[in-house]
Amino acid sequence: MHELGIAESILNKALDAATENNAASVKAIGLKIGAFSGVEPQSLEFALECIKAGTPANNSEINIEIIAASGVCGECGKTSAPDTFLSLCGHCGSPVMEIISGKELEISYVDVE
Ligand SMILES: [Zn+2]
Repeated sequence: MHELGIAESILNKALDAATENNAASVKAIGLKIGAFSGVEPQSLEFALECIKAGTPANNSEINIEIIAASGVCGECGKTSAPDTFLSLCGHCGSPVMEIISGKELEISYVDVE
């Protein structure tokens, strides 16, 4: 499960933020996860819950925001919400879709105190 490696890098960044701010603990971690990011939000949350035990982020709250996928058609220029990377345009049926959101995997905020 590659979520564990991702969780470790998220936790490290959150702990770095606490250190930089001379904070004793991490209160909350906000994450943005795109529907196409390849990350299972529940698995990532579970991994974070496991590895933050015993760290200054022990009692932190994990807030995950799921970003829906959307793509712009290369033919008609309209936006639709694809189900997969290979979805056709919902307007003209063109297969030339550029994914413009849904691949996010980022920390939106870290609250420390
Ligand atoms: Zn189209």
